[in-house]
Order: sequence, then C-alpha cells, then structure tokens
Amino acid sequence: MLYFDHNATTPPAPAVLAAMLPVFSDVWANPSSQHAPGQAAKRTLGAARTTVARALGCKPAEVIFTSGATESNHLAVRGLRDAAPVGRRRVVFGSVEHAGHLKLARALSDAGTPVSYLPVHADGTLDLRAAGELIGPDVALVSLMAANNETGVCMPVAEVAALAHAAGAPLHVDATQLIGKLPFDFARFGADAVSLSAHKFHGPKGVGALLLRQGVPWAPQTRGSQERARRGGTENLPGIVGLAAALDALGSASAMVAEAERLAALRDALERGLAQALPALHVWSQHAPRLPGTSYLRIGDLQAEVVLNRLERLGIAASSGAACSSGGSEPSHVLSAMGVPRDDALCAVRLSLGRTTTAQDVDFVVAMLPPLLMACSPFSPPPEP
Ligand code: PLP
Repeated sequence: MLYFDHNATTPPAPAVLAAMLPVFSDVWANPSSQHAPGQAAKRTLGAARTTVARALGCKPAEVIFTSGATESNHLAVRGLRDAAPVGRRRVVFGSVEHAGHLKLARALSDAGTPVSYLPVHADGTLDLRAAGELIGPDVALVSLMAANNETGVCMPVAEVAALAHAAGAPLHVDATQLIGKLPFDFARFGADAVSLSAHKFHGPKGVGALLLRQGVPWAPQTRGSQERARRGGTENLPGIVGLAAALDALGSASAMVAEAERLAALRDALERGLAQALPALHVWSQHAPRLPGTSYLRIGDLQAEVVLNRLERLGIAASSGAACSSGGSEPSHVLSAMGVPRDDALCAVRLSLGRTTTAQDVDFVVAMLPPLLMACSPFSPPPEP
C-alpha cells in the first residue's frame, strides 16, 4: 500500500515505539502516587514534558497534556471564553476550521454564545480585511487554525494575533496540521494557546497537548489535580512519552526545513506530472502559501469516489476532503467557504505526502493513475460491476 494520506494520520516512528514499550511494561505506576514506582513515573512524565517544551519553544509549565487536538481545541475555547471579562462574550472562529471544531462553534452558538466566522478568499487564504472588521472589543477570544487540513493553506497567524491583541482578546491556534511539517516556536508564534495531536507527526494516537501561555486568564474544564489542576485525569504516560519521542525524532529546525523542501518538490512533481497527462486537472490553492505535502485536486468532473476507487485498485491510500467526513456525500465545508460549486466540490481528492513518501511513489502515481482514469473517459463513473 502506498500511503498518500499523511494529513489524516501518520505511521508511528520506530523511535516512538521504542520509547513507549518500556513505559507500558516497566513504568506503569500512577505519577500521582507517593511510593517509589509512582515517583519514577512522575520523573518520566517530567522528562517528557521538558522534551516537549524544548522542541516547541515553550516553558514546561505551559504544556497541558490532553487526548489530542479535539480536546485541546475544546479546552482552549471553553477555558478562554469562561475566563473572559464581563462584556466580552463573542467567540470568533475561522470558517474553514476542522469539522469537529466547527461543531463546537455551533454548540456554543446554540447555547446562546454570540459566534462570528472569519471568511476566506476563493484560494482558501484568510480575508484579513474582514478579520479586522470582525475582531472588536466585545470578543472573548479568536480561534483560528494554522494550516488547513484539506487545502493545506497556511493562515496569517501573526497578523491575526496582532488584530486580536489590539482588541484585547487572546488568540487560540489549532496548529494540528502545522506542527511536525514546518518548524514551530511557541515563544515567537504569537498565539496565546496552541493545540496539537501527536499522531499527525508519527506519534501515537489519542494524545496531544494544549500549550497555554503563562499568565493568560483561562478556566479549567476537567477538574482534578493533574497538569497543575488544569486538566484532571491520570496521565496517559506511554502516549506522552511517545509524543515527546515523536517531536524529538523530527530533528532540528534546519532538518525540518530540508524535509519540507523535499516534500514540496515531490508535491510539485506530482501535480506537474498529473497535469501533463490529465489536462482537466484542477488543483485548489495551488498558488497560496500552503503546507509542503498537501495537494487538493479534482480531475474534470470525475466524482471523488471514482478517483479514490482507481487509486485503491493501484494500492494507493488517499482521501476525499477531510478524513473525518469521508463516506458522506456532503461537499467539503472548506471548499464551500471558498465558493466552490457543490458539483466541483464532490470531485475533491486529497493526496497528502509525508516523511515516508519517496520519489518512486510519486512516479508510480503519475505513471499509473492517468491511464486508469482515461479508461473511464469521458470522465463519467463506470457502470456497476
Ligand atoms: N484539527 C485539525 C486541523 C485536524 O486536522 C485534526 C485531525 O484531522 C484535528 C484538529 C483533530 O485531531 P484529533 O482527531 O487527533 O483530535
């Protein structure tokens, strides 16, 4: 199987498995216990926290371990909203946030919290002028993704941080797709709270973190003594050790830039090769600032399920739009927000490359996919078998 779905999840790195296994077998005590095994677990937790903080450019005390980005996003938004001064009630979300995060926005709105959405342009980039108009003194917080999981478009975090801070509001950023793909430094990022998930960068699933700048008013949501009373519940120590090992394995900032350049070159070769063989190819957000390994495309009016079926026959795993909403026939909310007509949006296929992708993998797709698709010319779905 050739894996072109790295934005959905990534295979755990060997170093991650090696770091986690002894924690399952040997360091299984509760880090809150006072006895010697508990204290050993507590030291392991502390060492992992230090590694995470060093890798992400924050203080160890600014790391809150969670079950992943979905939980981090909820903790950030509800925690910042609940701590906002009286008179600041409105929550501003990006309009192309992850589907789970937009469900939170709708839940808040249904419960009476005023909610606004930051629009995007036709190429998926943020409409900064509209953002300037929407972020005002009644805002409790702004919540924006760093990079979109479908188009890969990177959002102007520094500019939105300046707008939010000028209005006296904190900024939460869902950096789930950015961290692991491009260098990241919390101290210079501009956001007050940042969400991440380990499985997006070769760590284990079900573990992540919320980075919360020291001194930012925030109200805990799950009560307990762990994580400095900011997130109750016995820590997922093997997962946390795996998260730290995954960040460590990413290497230095310059190594990450080199990997990003390799991936961007592979992604460009993929898009060039497919465009040569398939003139009906359209790539969304191709000229916008985007993640190096993400390609979001349609081939004429071929439905996504037809293309995915052909890819599957070739042993290639890819995705239509956001993985979490695959299988449904609703068009991607991201493409809808970009003004893409429904029929075009239903043709959207995402190929996302990652550390395991090679030039041979890309050559294989470019050589094998077009003839299979041409066979179902004039680009209509094949008859049922
Ligand atoms: N935010 C973004 C941008 C994502 O891409 C994802 C996962 O696809 C999530 C949040 C949710 O991550 P998790 O399922 O690990 O909680």
